[in-house]
Amino acid sequence: MKIPFCLPVIDKEVIDEMMDTLTNTGWLTTGPKARALEGEIRKFTNAEAVLCVNSWTSGAMLMLRWFGVGYGDEVIIPAYTYSATALCVMNMGAIPVMVDVKEDFTIDPANIIKAITPKTKAIIPVDMGGYPCDYDKINEIVNLDTVKSLFRVDSENQRKLGRILVLSDAAHSLGATYKGLPSGKLSDVSVFSLHSVKNITTGEGGAIVLNLPVPFDNEKELVFLKALSLNGQNKSAFEKNQPGAWRYDIIDQGLKVNMPDLCASVGLAQMRRYSSKFLPERKSIFAHYIKEFSKYEWAILPPAKNEKVESSYHLFLLRIKGFDEEKRDAMIQYIGEKGVGVNVHYIPMSMLSVFKSRGYNIANYPMTYQLYENEITLPVYNNLTKEQLDYILKTVIESYKYVITNFK
Ligand SMILES: *Cc1c(COP(=O)(O)O)cnc(C)c1O
Repeated sequence: MKIPFCLPVIDKEVIDEMMDTLTNTGWLTTGPKARALEGEIRKFTNAEAVLCVNSWTSGAMLMLRWFGVGYGDEVIIPAYTYSATALCVMNMGAIPVMVDVKEDFTIDPANIIKAITPKTKAIIPVDMGGYPCDYDKINEIVNLDTVKSLFRVDSENQRKLGRILVLSDAAHSLGATYKGLPSGKLSDVSVFSLHSVKNITTGEGGAIVLNLPVPFDNEKELVFLKALSLNGQNKSAFEKNQPGAWRYDIIDQGLKVNMPDLCASVGLAQMRRYSSKFLPERKSIFAHYIKEFSKYEWAILPPAKNEKVESSYHLFLLRIKGFDEEKRDAMIQYIGEKGVGVNVHYIPMSMLSVFKSRGYNIANYPMTYQLYENEITLPVYNNLTKEQLDYILKTVIESYKYVITNFK
């Protein structure tokens, strides 16, 4: 049996929606389909304002630009995440300050406090695997008088907020909840990824969700951000295309990161069925893994649900008790040879060349290393059959036995 690690939903409804864009609307770039997808995400997350863009990375960069984050500034991020969380900061000229995580894979608020300096402009917490961070603590920290008094204002939006921005890396967490609130409502700004491997996809894409406090008007900021995502142009090509509406202005130095309708149509057809079908399906795959792996004392299960938090069931981050990198890698090799695609989320950034060359060192992030060294991510996606799930379980259990008997 061959089971890929990941497969996007491409069914009749997705194809029909995309064909409609291609054949009926005659409009491929940002227009009605992107706006409709934003509407679906707004409804689902109960958000004030949503803007679709062409990736999580570009959405995060857009929001850092919006907040005036640039050269010399610092942004606090967890040491355990995908590299985009750091690269969006570096590409705006600022410095990612990595801090270690907790055993649930999310940023440790105690380490955030220690890392704050007068240069800190933002924190990017990451909802790893779809499991929300400790947002009560994080939001409390940025609002502490001692922390606010350190904050140096360098832009109009920094003056309006008057404190460090909390910009959630919600790349994984569309559909998660924290104390009953949906991901997207947990911090000032959240960015979802709609990349091909995520719960909902547009091929490549992202969605910015605004939840800015007073005195911000989220609707007004959305209008501005829409322009900022179009090179700063205050009308989209679609809007300019209306009779007599040709004149436009470039109102600020923007980026070019808008989402084409061609892509939006794929996500739109998925998003309409997310809460009724695709999210519950992921949840039941998680439940099956949890039920079966609970029988083995060597299996450390990922956090998924408790009285306060519920995951979006994006990544099943299995860990193997007592294993080091060598044994974990041997398990992955065995599983791969049996035809099952698994992965590791993530190689810590401080073990990758670009970050090592800038002085980041894994020795400073012991929990991150501890989580990484024995982690194996199992397939979770819609259309995985019961038979495939059973095969994955059987193979992982076999691979553990194989490694235990062959490696000392
Ligand atoms: C996928 C991912 C991103 C980047 O998303 P893109 O849409 O590919 O830019 C950022 N952060 C995390 C945690 C991710 O998993």
